Amino acid sequence: MTDKLNLLDLDLDGLVEWFAARGEKPFRARQVMRWLHRAGVSDFEQMSDVAKSLRAKLAEEACVRWPAVVRDSVSTDGTRKWLLDVGAGNAVETVFIPETSRGTLCVSSQAGCALDCAFCSTGKQGFNRNLSSAEIIGQLWLANRLLGATADGERIVSNVVMMGMGEPLANLDNVVTALRLMLDDHAYGLSRRRVTVSTSGIVPAMDRLREECPVALAVSLHAANDALRDRLVPINQKYPLRELLAACNRYLDAAPRDFVTFEYVMLDGVNDTDGDARELVAIARQVPCKYNLIPFNPFPNSGFRRSPAERIRRFAGILQDAGIVATTRKTRGDDVDAACGQLAGQVLDKTRRTRILQPARELGQ
Ligand code: SAH
Ligand code: SF4
Repeated sequence: MTDKLNLLDLDLDGLVEWFAARGEKPFRARQVMRWLHRAGVSDFEQMSDVAKSLRAKLAEEACVRWPAVVRDSVSTDGTRKWLLDVGAGNAVETVFIPETSRGTLCVSSQAGCALDCAFCSTGKQGFNRNLSSAEIIGQLWLANRLLGATADGERIVSNVVMMGMGEPLANLDNVVTALRLMLDDHAYGLSRRRVTVSTSGIVPAMDRLREECPVALAVSLHAANDALRDRLVPINQKYPLRELLAACNRYLDAAPRDFVTFEYVMLDGVNDTDGDARELVAIARQVPCKYNLIPFNPFPNSGFRRSPAERIRRFAGILQDAGIVATTRKTRGDDVDAACGQLAGQVLDKTRRTRILQPARELGQ
């Protein structure tokens, strides 16, 4: 089974090429892609308009594999979180956030993360490995199945944010393949504006994303000057603010939106003074942007506290008075540890525990 090609690893170009090598026409690849991603069918026998001989060939040489769900939790606010087994003791999480006008899926790109931002529990876990394209797109594939999507029905997942575990731009090739599938009309058909990549600021990879698959961009700013950002987001030592802001402006030339979203975690007494807000105003004069303030989500031994609500309001007010759009992210799903930055904290422990208590729930795999 493991030596077979996992078809979820291929975008349309890849699938067309794979079919061509077997003497099959491109329209066959499109047909199979629709079965896989639109209809969510993994059994080749069910692909009724695919020739029997081709179905047999597919069954012999290929497979459709997605990560197994080891835990499925629903928060009191409707946020749903799946813990996924990605092998060798690694687990990642996918979070679905339902809202009245949209449904957002927060997707992971790596098991762990090497970038070690000071306030992030994924960072504290260290880097385990990159997810494959199949494991990344598999999260959307699974969410559609588990949320009851139908092939021609309304979209339940209308937006995807690459804001789960890991740094997407440190796993660019696999992320780009998955993004192309999200956008492809034969697969998920999401508009570029509704797919967002969040990065801590790996400048050369931002340029590559712009060339290879420009989608909406969020940048984890978290500090308004290099001295503080060097400490909070260590990748800043390699790509300081001046270079990061220039990369944002280059990105905007190709982006589907005309602004970058700057994420800014509110850390009590660390980055939340009026002076910090004024420095953010200066940054907004250099890059067309919106600010998304994220109240810090605590985890054990983080060493940080969330800024008080009143401080966050005043901070946002300074930005808004300067004519800048600044929203404060609502904390969703924190009762199931699904809020930003809480995703990894207890994964390993919980994974081991749930494996014992609860057999992996699998979708007929
Ligand atoms: N690696 C990417 C995307 C994943 S994190 C990045 O850093 O952008 C998604 C967002 O959650 C980032 O802005 C990240 O900095 C933020 N975050 C991390 N830990 C957090 C915490 N404990 N509380 C609130 N936000 C956090
Ligand atoms: Fe990695 Fe993002 Fe966490 Fe930083 S905030 S350690 S880049 S996942």
